[in-house]
Amino acid sequence: MSAEPGPPLPQPITSVKSPFRMDYTYVAGAGRSVFLRGLAERKLLARRCPGCSQVYLPPPEFCSRCLTELEAPFELDGRGTIATFCVVSFPFPGQTIEAPYVVAHIHHHGADTRLMHLIGDVAPDEVRIGMEVEPVWVGEDQLTTSMTSIRHYRPTGVAIGSESTRA
Ligand SMILES: [Zn+2]
Repeated sequence: MSAEPGPPLPQPITSVKSPFRMDYTYVAGAGRSVFLRGLAERKLLARRCPGCSQVYLPPPEFCSRCLTELEAPFELDGRGTIATFCVVSFPFPGQTIEAPYVVAHIHHHGADTRLMHLIGDVAPDEVRIGMEVEPVWVGEDQLTTSMTSIRHYRPTGVAIGSESTRA
């Protein structure tokens, strides 16, 4: 059996244009609703698990580790440190922020979980893991029950941890 040369292979398809629309309703649940309502009042509300002491921000209703109902919400001061981050430096469809910009996981003081948000008021190449940041809230008329109530986080000017310093 010998291999006959067949027709030339077609070029690989790398993209397809297609109209796409999806409407959905997000149900926050009892736990996250408290957190989202807090955002409309410039409050970051966390909850502690009475079983394992894990502090959640944002808090669900039940601990994901031991399934215990979390304690009453309490307010954090909003400050935290950058646990990790990435610099988005390329445009993509639907993007609402001009690149480059920084998205970070923020480890709030007093919480055990991380919250993801934008980092602003600092050049992307100045952002460091361990950098302390604080929320920059939108104006009174723009506050709502969503993360958009926080415009971004900005450095407090205090570096915590040796990993935050330049090599
Ligand atoms: Zn727990």
